[in-house]
Amino acid sequence: MVAISPPARVLVTGANGYLATWVLKKYLEAGYSVRGTVRSLSKSAFLNDKFAHYGDRFELVVVEDITKDGAFDEAVKGVDAIAHTASPFHYKSTNPDDLIIPAVRGTTSILNSALKHGSTLKRVILTSSVAAVREETTVPRAFNESNWNNSAVEAVKTKGSEVGSVGIYLASKTLAEKAAWEFVATHKSEISWDLVVINPPLVFGASLLFSPSFSFIAEVSSPTYSLPSAQGNWVHVSVASEAHVLATHAVAAGGQRIIVKSGPFFFQDLPELGIPNVPRGEPGSTKGISFIINLETKKAEELLGLTTATPLKDAVAESVEDFKTRGYPGFTA
Ligand code: NDP
Repeated sequence: MVAISPPARVLVTGANGYLATWVLKKYLEAGYSVRGTVRSLSKSAFLNDKFAHYGDRFELVVVEDITKDGAFDEAVKGVDAIAHTASPFHYKSTNPDDLIIPAVRGTTSILNSALKHGSTLKRVILTSSVAAVREETTVPRAFNESNWNNSAVEAVKTKGSEVGSVGIYLASKTLAEKAAWEFVATHKSEISWDLVVINPPLVFGASLLFSPSFSFIAEVSSPTYSLPSAQGNWVHVSVASEAHVLATHAVAAGGQRIIVKSGPFFFQDLPELGIPNVPRGEPGSTKGISFIINLETKKAEELLGLTTATPLKDAVAESVEDFKTRGYPGFTA
């Protein structure tokens, strides 16, 4: 594999999404040409406005149903890399099929198109998640790229919809990523491209689009939200998107899963960070308590040279300010 450098052409799926919009911006700023796929051109008109000044280095194409065989056959033609970000991210459904089918079939569909029509393709970068890595734990545990969230998959298998919307999302990301690695292993002798997987935790920071379909910051901004006592991990949107660009260029990233993160946090600490309408929870209850989900980021540092120093309060403030400016429901300027 040689480094995929600008002005190489990259296909970004789900181009109108919160993270993907940043991924587009980072690729374009770095000098790459970008073809974005969206389900609806009218819904994605803001992207043309935002990136028009890049001229023919930016284009949008419609892929209406990512689960259909051959859906990406045309879109993959002539690209050097693919960043596959499109996948449902919300906690609105308790029907496993609503998330698992588009997550898994969307992934295998684009890989099949890449297999058949990716004669210029050198690398696929898949946006997975820390959801596919870490499992529930009650004792402090370190997680790295060798870990898989098999218990999320098992839980959906045994409990079905009773596992709840979060559990379904966790399983959808685990199953989609596993499907990608299996695909690459099965077709090893037929493909001249490799796979890199980016595993971010919750992404915080300002959006570049009007109304993200899901934001954790918006989710917790509700008096009825039940603030968990648990801990989460987060990454700044600028860092998570930059990781996709670095993973495109870094030869040694080929064949690797890469966790990216800015840091851990306690959900109980969120009310202090200026998000409106967050229930108070139990202030101070995390004092002296250790983080139990400890994500290792050695690969991000060594393979991508990625480090990050944004404090959580700044990233949350950016998200809140952004929602206020855009008039997001529940956020007033
Ligand atoms: P968004 O909801 O903002 O974007 C999701 C994108 O995927 C949209 O373009 C959406 O299209 C598309 N999409 C969703 N469902 C379907 C479907 N059934 N068929 C076709 N396209 C679909 O989410 P994010 O930007 O937050 O997430 C992007 C990726 O990053 C996802 O893979 C997500 O799992 C991953 N991720 C996100 C994290 C976060 O905290 N935001 C954390 C870790 C990983 P449309 O607008 O038309 O629905």
